Amino acid sequence: MKAIPFLKPRPPRLSTEVRALAEIEASGRFSNFGPKNTEFEHSLISKIFEGGGACVTVANATLGLMLSIRAQLPTHITPGSFALMPAYTFAATAHAAIWAGLTPLFCDIEPDNWLPSANSEEQLLQKYGSRVSVIVPYATFGACLDLGRYAELARRHSISVVIDAAASMGTLDRDARGFGAGAPFPVIFSLHATKTFATSEAGVVYSADRDLIERIRTMSNFGFGEPRHATMPGLNAKLSEVAALLGLLRLKDFDQIVNRRTLLYDRYRKNLPDFGFQTQTALRQAHQFVPALVPNGIAMRRDSIVTALVEAGIQTANYFSPHLAQQSYFRETCEIGPLPNTNAISARTLSLPLSDSISAEEIDYICKMLLFECQMQ
Ligand SMILES: *Cc1c(COP(=O)(O)O)cnc(C)c1O
Repeated sequence: MKAIPFLKPRPPRLSTEVRALAEIEASGRFSNFGPKNTEFEHSLISKIFEGGGACVTVANATLGLMLSIRAQLPTHITPGSFALMPAYTFAATAHAAIWAGLTPLFCDIEPDNWLPSANSEEQLLQKYGSRVSVIVPYATFGACLDLGRYAELARRHSISVVIDAAASMGTLDRDARGFGAGAPFPVIFSLHATKTFATSEAGVVYSADRDLIERIRTMSNFGFGEPRHATMPGLNAKLSEVAALLGLLRLKDFDQIVNRRTLLYDRYRKNLPDFGFQTQTALRQAHQFVPALVPNGIAMRRDSIVTALVEAGIQTANYFSPHLAQQSYFRETCEIGPLPNTNAISARTLSLPLSDSISAEEIDYICKMLLFECQMQ
């Protein structure tokens, strides 16, 4: 068996798209919301979000998070304001809040679906009150968040909501709609090469609130609300035409990609009955990789199991271990609530390989080797 990488990015092949590349050259538009980008945004709305709302592309999801958080803050930010988010997420979520001038405040997660814990969020909102200006829940590993609950939280506490849906492109909610469709707040997706919707570097901000999306678009172009005249905070987050072309090409085969990954994910689950898996909140969840929990009682052997798998030619990862509250920069700069579930889940997490080209036989081999190493004393 040849070595199995953790991820094996396979974006659409630009080398076979000479004609489309020539079109971009002939248009003379290489960025700044050119024709490929406009077509890509319209296609996303019709194919993913059922024709409603609006979206703006960004050069990556981290910039999308920064813009979406900043767009909902007042011109002059009160020092010491918090962005409430789970500690069980990727570093980008906290970095984005810090760049927007806020202090991340970490809440715990639910023990079963690993989404931000409703109780923990409520407790921290009680404790920190009006100093929390935005809540940034992460749709963990592509799962579905209860968006109605966040709309209710926003009303009750007068706070803004920004959804980190970085891994959720391709996820269908219980009504078979693309996750986020109809959301009144910004929902940010990553289209990075390693995500399920693999391009190179790209992201998209979606919302049912069209005015909000136009404000974020303006901010993503230096805050130029008038020609070369900044009327808002801004930076450059625009997507290039070549990157938009990759997005358009990816849309063509995306549904098959998500469905194939779902089958392979189920195969892991069936092969590893004693492992913990995220409980299902979606009708169909997009899978970037396979997050599993090693059985209770062998968590302390996780690192040696990972080493043994490497020797067997199998590369794994550990999302999210360390979690944010265990990373030195965030420990120094952020506020940390009680995290019992986050600590317990993070200690057992083992991310297993998935890609568009991995085979069922390779997955069976990975599971066989993993079970063997788990039984070794
Ligand atoms: C991948 C990811 C991001 C960052 O996306 P980029 O497009 O790489 O900037 C942010 N948050 C989470 C949870 C992610 O998994």
